[in-house]
Amino acid sequence: MIKKDWTRRDFIKSAGAAGLGAALAPNLTASAEPQRGESAMAAASQKVPIRPFGRSGIEVSILSLGGMFDIPNNQLMLQQALRLGVTYWDTANSYGYGSSEEGIGKFFTKYPDARQSVFLVTKSGRKDPDDLSEHLGLSLKRLNTNTIDLFFMHALSNTRPLTDTVRRWAERAKADGKIRLFGFSTHRNMQSCLQEAAKMEWIDGIMMTFNYRLMHEPEMQAAVAACQAAGIGLTAMKTQGGGQIESGSDQELALGGRFLERGFTPYQAKLKAVWENPAIASICSQMPNMTILMANTAAALDQTRLSATDQRQLIQYAEHTQSGYCGGCGDICESALAGRPPVADVMRYLMYSRSYGDHRRAREHFGRLPAEIRQGLAHADYAQAEARCPRGLPIGRLMHEALTELA
Ligand code: SF4
Repeated sequence: MIKKDWTRRDFIKSAGAAGLGAALAPNLTASAEPQRGESAMAAASQKVPIRPFGRSGIEVSILSLGGMFDIPNNQLMLQQALRLGVTYWDTANSYGYGSSEEGIGKFFTKYPDARQSVFLVTKSGRKDPDDLSEHLGLSLKRLNTNTIDLFFMHALSNTRPLTDTVRRWAERAKADGKIRLFGFSTHRNMQSCLQEAAKMEWIDGIMMTFNYRLMHEPEMQAAVAACQAAGIGLTAMKTQGGGQIESGSDQELALGGRFLERGFTPYQAKLKAVWENPAIASICSQMPNMTILMANTAAALDQTRLSATDQRQLIQYAEHTQSGYCGGCGDICESALAGRPPVADVMRYLMYSRSYGDHRRAREHFGRLPAEIRQGLAHADYAQAEARCPRGLPIGRLMHEALTELA
């Protein structure tokens, strides 16, 4: 029976217990709190499932280790990830100003055999082939490897940078054995990026924002289906669907309570919702500590599927809170504003701060915006943009809050 009157106190208490229980492999009792090493050993006896990565012929773990944490000083995380079968590792030239790649390289230096087990992804924000070559060379050196399994052009908001010159660059890099696959990551205008990429036979993989909020939208469903038909391997990121405005509503508590009664946390339920879609090869998750790694691994190992009621409730929750979540469709609101200020990017930085609690990253990103753009954000009239926003976000209010919080 589902408890109907969950309070915040119940929720926090039970979420903690479920998190620890979930850290155990399925079928192990959660009645006694395990020691960290014990739970790790129990879960390590099973490996995270694998799925085909598009048409590549490569299979990857359905859970991917996001590399945005202090890897040089947390080498144990990499070791545990390997033991648990989390063998898809994602990093970028820019993460930690290079320390993320260096941390993984440090691990491969110490454990050279581990490289064969890992599907290694890195990214470059550069668009010009010469610059891409420079970054690729640097990544290979930092990562202490001869080849990158999947090389992404980082954070595209449209496919214009994917020129014929870049295609030839990717083909050359593959022929030289420096990369095996090529693609891009995107957290803005994802749907149109995916649709365009599906027409390019040389794109092997895409990492995009995808979660229980976006996955039911017809445009996103069509874009994912097009990529699946084209054989493009898809990796979902930002799967928790954290927004810019916290709802803290009774509905959120009730939803959390329902999932806890079912044996998983709401966070695990949101991962499961994404894995329900077989077109998604893997979920990239930032897992900066063992607790999150174990909880996510437990969700991947657990065979329990979301029921139709679970899924319906997630959809209802998404609808109820949609005006607090920016879907990244920046072309819609930004085209209504003089000078097209990067509203969707600022919304993302707010999400890092408010949903992830990662104020440092949020401020770093915001601080990289040129001063004139920040000034433009402060003085823009957002009425037209708000009228166009399909989710009804209070854009003006959020931009001003961002200017105060992230400056
Ligand atoms: S503020 Fe609205 S229109 Fe702009 S990117 Fe976000 S969801 Fe899309």
